[in-house]
Formats: sequence, C-alpha cells, structure tokens
Amino acid sequence: MSHVKGTLTDDLGLPPAPGAEQHAALDLANSAVTLPGGQYSDLLATPGAANLWLTAHGLAPADAGLRETCAAQLRSLREHLRSLIAARVEGHTPPAGALNAVNDALTRAPAAALLHWSPERGPYRAATHPTTQILEHALAALAADAADLLTGADADRLTACGSPPCNRYLLRHGRRHWCSTRCGDRARAARAYARRTGRAEENTRGDAEEN
Ligand SMILES: [Zn+2]
Repeated sequence: MSHVKGTLTDDLGLPPAPGAEQHAALDLANSAVTLPGGQYSDLLATPGAANLWLTAHGLAPADAGLRETCAAQLRSLREHLRSLIAARVEGHTPPAGALNAVNDALTRAPAAALLHWSPERGPYRAATHPTTQILEHALAALAADAADLLTGADADRLTACGSPPCNRYLLRHGRRHWCSTRCGDRARAARAYARRTGRAEENTRGDAEEN
C-alpha cells in the first residue's frame, strides 16, 4: 500500500502529470493514484502524509501538526475536485455538492495575501494567518487554483489519462493524452497485443487518437 514519502515520484516512480506542477489543484486531484499490478498510493492517507503534501506545495509549514480531520477534509476536497474535472472533461454538469464544496473552501478563509505594513519594510503582502487556520487557508488556495484551472485558458486541455487503470488527469499537449511515458508505453503495448490477437476493431479509439 502507500509508502509515505511525499511524492508519487518517490512512491511509484511517477513524475507529476503534465500541468500538475503549474496547478496544485491538478496535483491534488492526482494525489491518489491507481496503477497496474495492484499499485496504489494515496499521498493524503495519514495526517503526516497530508502535512508533507501541503508543505511540498508551499501551503503549510512542515510542523503544521495536521490531524486526521484535516487530512479527511483534504481528501474530501480532492474527491469533489475530481468530479468537477471529470464533468469538465466529459462535458456534463457536475453534482451541486462538488460546486458547493469548492465554494465553501473558497469563502471560509481568504486565499489572498493580505497587505501588511512595518516600519522596517514598509508595505508588503504576505499570507500570514493564525496557525489554527493553516488548513482553511490551504483549502482556500487549492479551491482558488481549481476554479482558475476549470475556467482558465488551460481548461480545454484537461483530459483523463488514456491508459487504464491509471486515474490521473493532465493537461494535454498536442494529441498526447498519457500522464507519463510509462502509461503511454503500456497503452501502446495493450493495443499491439489487441491487434495481434485480432481484436483491433474493438480498440480503435486509442489508435485513432494517437498515430
Ligand atoms: Zn496515466
């Protein structure tokens, strides 16, 4: 099961999906991944793992002391975000609960860096906030990024990895719709096998999109 080291690169040798380094919300959506051979990793499975994930994304100090209720809130936002991304990719209307969850996270705490003023530095902006609100601010920042991702210029490039059972989302470049070379190689191998065994007609979808 999951070995907690903070990234999927450590856990499964998987680099971030294309776009996930620019959008923390996309990386959140991909933070529990399913791969062949029973490989599964949830980077938010425990409070300690969730803290590592937030710290790696600049959203919490390493000693934030997250509790299980905090990790559970992150996992819940992840599931709502996945259903919003799926709706955008598949062109249907998402469940109201998913929209409400993102909007609730957006409005529970300000995601903006606030204006401060000190005699030494003069005016500056910083996202300082009480330690009791670390999680609320992290959820707000992730929800804001999710809203930007779903409404911004990149939204049309959102797609699901086309190599089952991989469950990651990515921003497509050209016609490539794999989250990683490993997934691309596996999908090509699966199609080659299907052709050899005379089932090519049943698997034309991937061929048409790639070659
Ligand atoms: Zn994949």
